[in-house]
Amino acid sequence: FSSEPSLQAHSTEEIGFKGHGMLAPFTAGWQSTDVHPLVIDRSEGAYVYDINGKKYIDALAGLWCTALGGSEPRLVKAATEQLNKLPFYHSFWNRTTKPSLDLANDVLSMFTAREMGKVFFANSGSEANDSQVKLVWYYNNAMGRPDKKKFIARSKSYHGSTLISASLSGLPALHQKFDLPAPFVLHTDCPHYWRFHLPDETEEEFSTRLANNLENLILKEGPETIAAFIAEPVMGAGGVILPPKTYFEKIQAVLKKYDVLLIADEVITAFGRLGTMFGCDMYNIQPDLVSIAKALSSAYMPIAAILVSPEIADVVHSQSSKLGSFAHGFTYSGHPVACAVAIEALKIYKERNITEHVNTIATRFQEGIKAFSDTWPGIDTWN
Ligand code: PLP
Repeated sequence: FSSEPSLQAHSTEEIGFKGHGMLAPFTAGWQSTDVHPLVIDRSEGAYVYDINGKKYIDALAGLWCTALGGSEPRLVKAATEQLNKLPFYHSFWNRTTKPSLDLANDVLSMFTAREMGKVFFANSGSEANDSQVKLVWYYNNAMGRPDKKKFIARSKSYHGSTLISASLSGLPALHQKFDLPAPFVLHTDCPHYWRFHLPDETEEEFSTRLANNLENLILKEGPETIAAFIAEPVMGAGGVILPPKTYFEKIQAVLKKYDVLLIADEVITAFGRLGTMFGCDMYNIQPDLVSIAKALSSAYMPIAAILVSPEIADVVHSQSSKLGSFAHGFTYSGHPVACAVAIEALKIYKERNITEHVNTIATRFQEGIKAFSDTWPGIDTWN
C-alpha cells in the first residue's frame, strides 16, 4: 500500500497504455495501479523482477504465501504433470480425483495438535472461513440447537473479505461502507498486550482480563446463542500480534465451559511460519475446526481447506439423510491441479525440515531487528 516513490516503478505510458481494465483489490484511488503501477514480471527464489528488470526482495512472500519462493521446479513439474493427465474433474457427490483424496489424507496426518476427521476444500482463505460458518450452522441445526448461531471474533483480526469473512474480520475498513458486520458476528478484545494492557498489568493478568471479558460477552448474549469463536494463532493483517502468555489456555477454558466451538484461522500461520508446522502446535490450541490456505500450495495454485473435527464430521455425515445433504461447495473444491501442487509442497516442507529452517533464520532476523532498538523505542516490549 506504499506511496513510497521507489515502489511506484512504472508510469502508465511505460507499461504501454493509459489506464486499464483492472479494479485493484484493497486499493484507494490515489494508489491505484492506473496511477502508480508496479508491474511484476518474474520471480526467482525470494526475489521478484519488474518489467524493466529491476530486482526486489519479496520480503512479504507475495501476500504471506509463497513459502517456497518463486521458482520451485518441483511445484511446476507437479502442476504440469497433472495438467497433462487430468486438468480438471470435480469433487462433488461421489465423484472425485486421486490428488484431492491424497491431499486430504496428507493434511490430516500433518495436523497433530489434535485428531481431525475430514477435510473440506475451497479456493481461498475467505471461502474457507465462509464455509466454516455454514458448516457450524449446519452442525448446530443437526444437533437440534437452531439458536446457537452467533460468532465471536476479535478486533483487528483478518479472516477475509467476502460478506461473512469480512464480517468476522475486526478491521473497520472492511465494515464501513459495506453495511457490515453481519448481525450474527460479535467482536471481543484484540490481544495486543503492548498496546492495550493497563498500567502494571502483567501479560498473564491481561490474558485473564480478556478471558473474563469473553465470558461476560457470552453470558450477556446467552451461551445458547453463541456457536463459535474464531482466532488467528498470531494475528497477521491486523499488525502481527502475538498472543500474550496464557491467552489461549484461558480463552479455551471459557469456550469449553459454554460449549462454544473454536475455529483456528491458520491461513497465514500454517506450514512452518511460526517455527512449528501449525500455529496450534505453538500455542497448544486444540481447535474444532481449522482454516488453511496460502502456503498449502506455496501459492502456486489457489487452494484452501478446512479441517473438521471427527465429532463435527460424524454429525454432518450421519445427519445428512435427515437434514438433506451439506449443500455447499465450489466447482473448484479439490481442483486436481491445485491438489497435486499442494501435495508436492507438503512433501518439500517435510523433506527440507522447514520448521527447523524457520527457527534458524528467526534468530538471525531477531538479532537484525534488535539493531534498530535504539531508534525505535517500542522494540524492547517484543521480548
Ligand atoms: N484468514 C487470514 C488469517 C488471512 O490472513 C487471510 C488473508 O490474508 C484470509 C483469511 C483470507 O484469505 P484469502 O485472501 O485467500 O481469501
